Amino acid sequence: MRGTMLYAPGDVRVETRDDPRIEQPTDAIIRIAAACVCGSDLWPYRGIEPVTGPTPMGHEYVGVVEEVGSQVTTIRQGQFVVGSFAASDNTCEICRAGYQTSCLHREWIGPLGAQAEYLRVPLADGTLVATPEQPSEDVVPGLLAASDVLGTGWFGAVAADVQPGKTVAVVGDGAVGLLAVLAAKHLGAGRIIAMSRHADRQKLALEYGATDIVTERGDDGVARIKDLTNGLGAHSVIEAVGTQESMLQAIRSTRPGGHVGYVGVAHGVQLPGEEMFYSHVHLHGGPAPVRRFLPELVDLITSHAIDPGNVFDLTLPLDQAAEGYRAMDERRAVKALLRP
Ligand SMILES: [Zn+2]
Repeated sequence: MRGTMLYAPGDVRVETRDDPRIEQPTDAIIRIAAACVCGSDLWPYRGIEPVTGPTPMGHEYVGVVEEVGSQVTTIRQGQFVVGSFAASDNTCEICRAGYQTSCLHREWIGPLGAQAEYLRVPLADGTLVATPEQPSEDVVPGLLAASDVLGTGWFGAVAADVQPGKTVAVVGDGAVGLLAVLAAKHLGAGRIIAMSRHADRQKLALEYGATDIVTERGDDGVARIKDLTNGLGAHSVIEAVGTQESMLQAIRSTRPGGHVGYVGVAHGVQLPGEEMFYSHVHLHGGPAPVRRFLPELVDLITSHAIDPGNVFDLTLPLDQAAEGYRAMDERRAVKALLRP
């Protein structure tokens, strides 16, 4: 099969790899209908995370089940499925509490490489969610978004305790931040402040339900949020970047008693203990347990109640994956969809 490999920072190649096979009786093999490049793929692409030799890439996927192992009971050949970027059994005590990305049997999908024609999905019953029927073409990008960026934005909104009528601020205007706006809207937020300096992303944020745009960052961004909230700060702030600056911006934009949901993968973030002590801010976040939300998100997308699919503003054949990475790295694209 064809699959994407990262050889070194900036060096993405699509090459012939071995077809995946059933290795465990709980595995499924799926034929990928669509995959995509993640903002987190850009960390090694930019050399901020080390690249230790040629690495299969991709952890977001939708596709059709080709084959299942002998112990798979609910997922069947021919079903169209969406899965999370972390495989989970969905039965252990941690999964049942809703934290499938910390499953006792978790396996990350990334190293298996979803930017490819086929993918082996471990723990198929606990990882994959089938659509009620074969989805129409127009909802496939939305379902793909559910696999990570929508599910992650959704968790950010839930972790930030978004409540009906309350004020939400979103730090970060990548795909996750934009879809956190959509999640906040769906959860009934009264006011949604998107922090973005890019006109195309501001437009999408407004489409998804943002009511205000703040272009300032850092302390100036915090001051603007305070201006807009009677000096108090937002009730809920979603952090979708993962840097020291964005994390402090999120915490300082939150009112005492408010909540920060942080879903940007943290890189070098250090929290000031004394400031945290006096802030009275709740912090919750981490790798989103997308599997918790997938059944609901699949319903909302297939019934056209929400449409997260237009977060993909570039579609390429799989063989041009390198251009997808370049376009996102250079911020010419919010998110690149790859078609095998
Ligand atoms: Zn589990």
